[in-house]
Amino acid sequence: LQPIHVIGGGLAGSEAAWQAANAGVPVILHEMRPTRETDAHKTDGLAELVCSNSFRSDDAETNAVGLLHEEMRRAGSLIMAAGDRHQLPAGGALAVDREGFSADVTRHIHEHPLITVERGEIAGMPPEDWDSVIIATGPLTSPALSEAIQALTGESELAFFDAIAPIVFRDSIDFDVCWFQSRYDKPGPSGTGADYINCPMDKAQYDAFIDALLDAETVGFKDWEKDTPYFDGCLPIEEMAARGRETLRHGPMKPTGLTNPRDPDTKPYAVVQLRQDNALGTLWNMVGFQTKMRYGEQTGVLRMIPGLENARFARLGGLHRNTFLNSPKLLDETLRLRACPRLRFAGQITGVEGYVESAAIGLLTGRFAAAERLGKTITPPPAVTAMGALLAHITGGHIAAPDDGGGARSFQPMNVNFGLFPPVEVPRTGEDGRRLKGKAKSLTRKKAMSERALQAIDAWLGPARAAAE
Ligand code: FAD
Repeated sequence: LQPIHVIGGGLAGSEAAWQAANAGVPVILHEMRPTRETDAHKTDGLAELVCSNSFRSDDAETNAVGLLHEEMRRAGSLIMAAGDRHQLPAGGALAVDREGFSADVTRHIHEHPLITVERGEIAGMPPEDWDSVIIATGPLTSPALSEAIQALTGESELAFFDAIAPIVFRDSIDFDVCWFQSRYDKPGPSGTGADYINCPMDKAQYDAFIDALLDAETVGFKDWEKDTPYFDGCLPIEEMAARGRETLRHGPMKPTGLTNPRDPDTKPYAVVQLRQDNALGTLWNMVGFQTKMRYGEQTGVLRMIPGLENARFARLGGLHRNTFLNSPKLLDETLRLRACPRLRFAGQITGVEGYVESAAIGLLTGRFAAAERLGKTITPPPAVTAMGALLAHITGGHIAAPDDGGGARSFQPMNVNFGLFPPVEVPRTGEDGRRLKGKAKSLTRKKAMSERALQAIDAWLGPARAAAE
């Protein structure tokens, strides 16, 4: 069998290579690091997590990303297996030790008998004699390759900003001020309900902090970055503050579900949370605190946070570009480029957002390319599954047709969420016979969607899944 060439050994490319090789097809995985670096990666490991160490909620019953985790586990995902092996305490979320995780993925890929890893940039259109290629080069695709893609598709590249959240050394945090607690004491893998470090603020401290954020000098925009909209899921804190003084207090700094044990009767006005970032527990990242403040400014502003007055930062926040295709117009339902079907795309470059979503699209692309190579029929996952819903989002499966000026042209990257799923019928009344409304109704709907998705994914995976059990 001729190999499938996977370009990019990130979350999506590693998963795509793993899935195709497990289907029995040889794979050559091309990763440019360390011969050529990106602006965000720090190592030469495969599947490096460039920012947060969280795969977000692991609740498969009522959360769409938790459901995606479960579907991927059932599909034999390497990214999920490595994530589970390197899990850290983080309440109901799946956070991982980034070094252990990346080393695990790297080892499994290198040890797979059907995968060859070649280090080096693919600096232009892949050679003509590569008849099956998966491009999984991510938001920081090297310029030479993105220019080649642009020339081929005729589409202008779209860009928005992702900002990196700062990481603090634990021994520089003041525990006379801060305390450990998960929101609503929700127990995670540690079982304690105390996975986060919390820094409380009263109103005066919050107001002073917002003023400082609004005054802080930020990294300037380059010409090509001007007028580019931010993606709302990754807004820098100073941008949130600029949208309204209360915005942060209703976002990453919300105080709900948290009680300061030193002053249980006074609700904190706002709370900054830090989440464990490495297995040793020496590094903690500031949750939702992505920022584009200049380095010199950042330290001063962040040290205004009670408990972080003497904080030392292992990494400051940063600003980066994202690259993604206008996928609904450009890709077919098996993620092939309509204009050049030997090329498939996977990961963030297809317009999904997030580590898990990128890996999920890698999983699908790897399976599709392998099925094609083996002469099998390709059946995309049903749209009622989380993977199917994501696929439908990027390929336009159940959104407005590309030529009607609707969905496709306003295409924006998306995290998985229940809003992408087809509607589900839920009973009008609960078990107690009373009419369902509000939160109870929404929870029932989510549970029904999850149950339907897991049944559908099992049916889609079919004999392969039964054999693996
Ligand atoms: P990547 O993981 O970036 O993998 C792409 C790989 O391709 C890289 O290893 C790169 O070196 C390689 N490559 C690029 N060009 C070439 C070439 N021409 N030849 C060979 N190799 C090449 N998501 C989250 O869920 N949480 C976060 O906190 C988060 N923070 C982010 C912060 C930043 C700064 C950025 C840019 C993105 C962030 N994302 C985050 C979004 C996204 O989930 C990640 O970028 C994720 O890694 C995307 O997976 P991927 O496989 O598509 O790309």
